[in-house]
Amino acid sequence: MKPPLRGGCLCGAIRFECRADPITAVFCHCRACQKFHAAPYAACAMMPEGAIVVVSGDPARYEVVGDSGAIVFREFCGRCGTQLFSGSSGHPQSKTVKIASLDDPSAIHPSLICTPRSEFHGYALKTGSRAMCNE
Ligand SMILES: [Zn+2]
Ligand SMILES: [Zn+2]
Repeated sequence: MKPPLRGGCLCGAIRFECRADPITAVFCHCRACQKFHAAPYAACAMMPEGAIVVVSGDPARYEVVGDSGAIVFREFCGRCGTQLFSGSSGHPQSKTVKIASLDDPSAIHPSLICTPRSEFHGYALKTGSRAMCNE
């Protein structure tokens, strides 16, 4: 699908566009993603910095120092709680969008999988390829 890809939160307060093709996309099973999404894994697409443009609303932001020492941020709707974006000061050239928040979540299909040591037993997707995540 050609950019822009449009998306938003559950309540509609926040709308955004992704104005470039993703650099990569991953099913991430890291503990931070499991916790933040309250799900066994998250589908995330890494976009070039600046390609994700919020066109309405103002995402809330949560920051924490990750295991690497970098500041990891997560942005979400402060009203309905939908997770939207994440990133890291260690990778300032990119920002991640949560694929399920897109209007058409089938527009991006991850080809990589991140399964760190904290793999959630029984839920990890089985594929041949693996990748490291920002955390
Ligand atoms: Zn919302
Ligand atoms: Zn993750």
